[in-house]
Amino acid sequence: MNISAPQGLARSGGSELARASITTPTSIKRRILIVEDESDLARVVKRHVEEIGCEVVVAPTGERALDAAARTEFDLVLLDVMLPGIDGLEVCRRLRDRQLYMPVLMLTARSSEIDKVLGLETGADDYLTKPFSVQELLARIRAIFRRMDALSQPHASSAGGFEIAGCLRIDPTTREVSMRGRPITLTHKEFDLLQHFAENPGRVYTRAQLLDAVWGYNHEGYEHAVNCHINRLRAKIEPDPTKPQLLLTVWGIGYKFTTDKLTAA
Ligand code: CA
Repeated sequence: MNISAPQGLARSGGSELARASITTPTSIKRRILIVEDESDLARVVKRHVEEIGCEVVVAPTGERALDAAARTEFDLVLLDVMLPGIDGLEVCRRLRDRQLYMPVLMLTARSSEIDKVLGLETGADDYLTKPFSVQELLARIRAIFRRMDALSQPHASSAGGFEIAGCLRIDPTTREVSMRGRPITLTHKEFDLLQHFAENPGRVYTRAQLLDAVWGYNHEGYEHAVNCHINRLRAKIEPDPTKPQLLLTVWGIGYKFTTDKLTAA
């Protein structure tokens, strides 16, 4: 049975969410919002996600999804791109405009949409192209949760952040970044990627290694996600994104972070 967002939420207040109908002894129950207009697919995904111990709300339209997200804090939004009315890209944009951060895993039927999905305006955390296997979906969900858990742990060693080459400041505790005193707003993944590079200066990474380190999986064919995030990071932190000085391409291999080429402002 399909649970539509408003009714499902109306029935599930705080006490019902706390109800131990799904036993997850090792962790707090996660809440997932599935935004999918294909009811058969939504039902299958819902069943499998519930099996890994998540509380699920299904919204069949973008409007219902935004309504649900306004009422309830979700740990993850599984968001179909092609929706009647407000499409998935717009839903993601509107979620990003809010103060509260909710990770978004986008489901797209067309690989031509990937740029838009991961692009600067939309800012999804990850994506899967349809058709996808249940195993793949669950692996992605677990990777996002692992990542969120790791980020919520206090980093005693990095309290107050660190400064690179006297200009780039990164604070892993507050997730704030500034370049020459100018605050830079990064998405979750952009920050993770920058932090990973900055903590390993000079080291060359392949796209597959970056996927593994930052996204938590190594999946052939998704190197595109890395390129896309590198371009977005460059647009935000490089003095001239067309001539990168910090995030350098290592031809035929991947990328490295260095301050050797950084010129004075
Ligand atoms: Ca659809």
